[in-house]
Amino acid sequence: MARKPLIAGNWKMNNTVSEAVVLAQEISNGFESDWLDHLDVAVCPSYVDLKPVRTVFEFDKLKVAVGAQNVFWEPSGAYTGEISIPMLREIGCAYCIVGHSERRELFGETNEDVNRKVRALVAERIGEIHPIVCVGESLAVRDEGAYLSYVDAQVRAAFAGVDASEAKEAVVAYEPIWAIGTGRTATPEQAQEVCAAIRATLTELFGAECAEGMRVLYGGSMNEGNASLLLAQPDIDGGLIGGASLKAKSFLSIIKEAL
Ligand code: PEP
Repeated sequence: MARKPLIAGNWKMNNTVSEAVVLAQEISNGFESDWLDHLDVAVCPSYVDLKPVRTVFEFDKLKVAVGAQNVFWEPSGAYTGEISIPMLREIGCAYCIVGHSERRELFGETNEDVNRKVRALVAERIGEIHPIVCVGESLAVRDEGAYLSYVDAQVRAAFAGVDASEAKEAVVAYEPIWAIGTGRTATPEQAQEVCAAIRATLTELFGAECAEGMRVLYGGSMNEGNASLLLAQPDIDGGLIGGASLKAKSFLSIIKEAL
């Protein structure tokens, strides 16, 4: 089954509102809208930048989506500092990164937290927000050789209690921790091996039809120099891009590699 690639930029905790608007405008200026016939593109700025960035793309009538980098699973209430799904939906978020390794490592997010967020997102059928579920092993786990079972367990935990009709809305991003922000990219073969294994797990969980339709991305120091070979792998359906998404020129170059 042909899957439409997704290129998503994770801006992390970078860019004030004015900086984010400039970057979004630069992306829009260099973008050719017919690219979106062939692939989907999203940027995931900080919460405060979401609406201004979306406004830039809306004003230019460019269907580049915006996504959040995190969300809380409760719809409202006494959860100081948290952001809910209805809040994201109202400002037009189409995606939400869930379980990024920085949230797992720096903010103590567990597999159970990730699962609550995934279930809350896929249960929302109106004004859908697609979760981008991040999984990936540390260098220690890779060196021990147990990375496939580690990632398999993360995928199973993230999707516990989710059925195929809900899962098909989700995207999975394989992001080996040792490749994030390090400049050390997984080789296309290493990335393909794990992305294929993720699809095999999704097939066991949800059946072949659903798993063949789900997008599995690679993330970890993807840039304009290495994107082409990574994106050519049969089980890699796009990229989640951190550092290289912060410059319009490199982000646009990666998008062109995915066409
Ligand atoms: C990320 O944070 O999701 C990521 C892939 O970062 P980078 O591209 O900078 O490694």
